[in-house]
Amino acid sequence: MRRITVLGATGSIGQNTLDLISRRPDEFEVEALTGAANIDLLAQDAMRMRAKLAVTANDQLYSALKECLSGTGIEVAAGAAAVAEAAARPADWSINAVVGAAGLLPSLEVLRRGGTLALANKETMVAAGPLVMASVKASGATILPVDSEHSAIFQALRGEDAREVERVILTASGGAFRDWPLERLCTATVEQASSHPNWAMGQRITIDSASMFNKALEIIEARELFNLEPRSVEVLIHPESLIHALVGFRDGALMAHLGAPDMRHAIGFALNHPARAELPVERLDLARIGQLNFRAPEVERYPALALARRVMEARGLSGAAFNAAKEVALDAFLARSLRFTDMASVVTETLDRLGGDPAFPRLSSHDATPILEDVLEADRIARLRAGDAVARIGE
Ligand code: NDP
Ligand code: MG
Repeated sequence: MRRITVLGATGSIGQNTLDLISRRPDEFEVEALTGAANIDLLAQDAMRMRAKLAVTANDQLYSALKECLSGTGIEVAAGAAAVAEAAARPADWSINAVVGAAGLLPSLEVLRRGGTLALANKETMVAAGPLVMASVKASGATILPVDSEHSAIFQALRGEDAREVERVILTASGGAFRDWPLERLCTATVEQASSHPNWAMGQRITIDSASMFNKALEIIEARELFNLEPRSVEVLIHPESLIHALVGFRDGALMAHLGAPDMRHAIGFALNHPARAELPVERLDLARIGQLNFRAPEVERYPALALARRVMEARGLSGAAFNAAKEVALDAFLARSLRFTDMASVVTETLDRLGGDPAFPRLSSHDATPILEDVLEADRIARLRAGDAVARIGE
């Protein structure tokens, strides 16, 4: 029996993970499940999966969750610290499917105990890549990427010498607005941005796909996970979303990873690693598909990509600031206080101003690994400044 913990169990990735685990009840037992607002689903899954512990990140919901689980013998806890404690409890395999920077501390707890971390929460790598990799080195922990592009790269690199990699190409569908006239983008609504051409995902990442902030996070994530030079990480628009990523080697060979757009591929690969096992995903019929299309991303349509380049060059605490400002801008768009195209303006303005902001923490040198306190402070200050930018730009 392998003991599994699912952080963010009530979300899109979390539910796909429980689907895979529940198909093989003799192999897995659940240590802990965590969620946030959706305590009904959390309680239901905790009972169904016979979890030992159920945690909601929202401490206001402790009593409600406790009531749902009374008489079951399942332990209940609430609050951000309790999510981190759930991550710290021994388990053979833990997946972090929390959305946003709230995923960072739970990731670090899994790594600190030398655990195996299936990582969907890309914000962990964007906010604190160097710190995360230092923790992996110190504890001997393992990270198995779950973001589909990063899982694809990881698979293409199996058995290869990483020093022979010349470039990595992340594909992107182009999101909901890839074919809209540019001048129409500023009118895009939350509902329009919340529908993805190929993938069924949580609302935040779906909107981030339309703006390409998702791909921006992913190129930083790839740079940090695979220790790549920023210039060797490329983005390619591929409307069909069947090739998830390509790895180019120094002899010019390109290895592509293809699969149906179903996250159970990447989750299942991480769950079965280092073996492969049967997965309930569609098999591609390439003859029926007929053709695959590619094009370069347009600079004006996707300003988030240029911002990511800037962050990759600066490194240090800029990833934490970038992600925090993006989260604030997305919250404001969801609250209808910013237009779609204003999200990039808010992030740009926040990064510009933080450069000369005395409250923003500084690293002693360009390649110093940030400490956690500085990452959290960078996140906090960036959120404040991004809030100011929202107030200015969103009028
Ligand atoms: P969802 O929004 O569907 O789920 C997010 C999960 O995190 C839910 O369980 C939610 O609980 C929980 N949560 C929300 N806020 C907090 C918080 N403050 N502290 C702790 N837990 C919290 O997101 P997705 O499943 O779409 O994405 C999860 C992560 O995986 C993201 O980082 C995303 O970028 C990444 N990812 C997702 C993909 C996808 O296909 N969905 C693909 C590749 C990467 P509740 O719902 O109960 O409030
Ligand atoms: Mg992805």
